[in-house]
Amino acid sequence: MINVYLFDLDDTLIDSRIYAKLYQPVLQVVKDKTGLTGEKLDKQARLLGLAKNKYGRWDTGDLCRELGLLEEYYKELNKLIAIVPVLHDAVEKVFRKLKNKGGRIGIVSNSQSRTINTYVLKYNLGDYVDFIFSPDDAGCRKDDDNYWKILIKKEKLNPETCLIIGDNEQEDIKIPQKFGFKTVHLKTPTDLGTVQ
Ligand SMILES: [Mg+2]
Repeated sequence: MINVYLFDLDDTLIDSRIYAKLYQPVLQVVKDKTGLTGEKLDKQARLLGLAKNKYGRWDTGDLCRELGLLEEYYKELNKLIAIVPVLHDAVEKVFRKLKNKGGRIGIVSNSQSRTINTYVLKYNLGDYVDFIFSPDDAGCRKDDDNYWKILIKKEKLNPETCLIIGDNEQEDIKIPQKFGFKTVHLKTPTDLGTVQ
């Protein structure tokens, strides 16, 4: 019997194409504030321990955190999500359905807590979401077993009664399965509507 639902954020609840749109405005801010651009920026980011994502881009949130530009980052993010819709269509309906049957809902993500909370606030999801969990809590990302161990302990979870819903076959499915979590792999965003 499933009683806790753990949702990934990017490409599960929200459309991560927002980050492609955010990229140039944030790089512009980084340039304005630090003078870093092009190869100089790449070198500095690597020195700060960052790595480019599968799209060949820096994670702009992580980049800004490491450069001390988080306020500027959230200013740009809020500006953009004020005009670009990013929440997938089925989210509210699914959340309401799961809450109505007494489920507990968590958002479990590699994004910073403040980013997750930005979307929760923007889309009034606070009544549905019981907790969020991020690298700020775990000290590592989802590809690290410790992320899941710390999540289980912090939220007192019994993995057997938890369902993880996510788009990443490794981080949302294979790794958490090692701990006994049940999982649903979303192949397209519309699959979200079938979660029950
Ligand atoms: Mg994802």
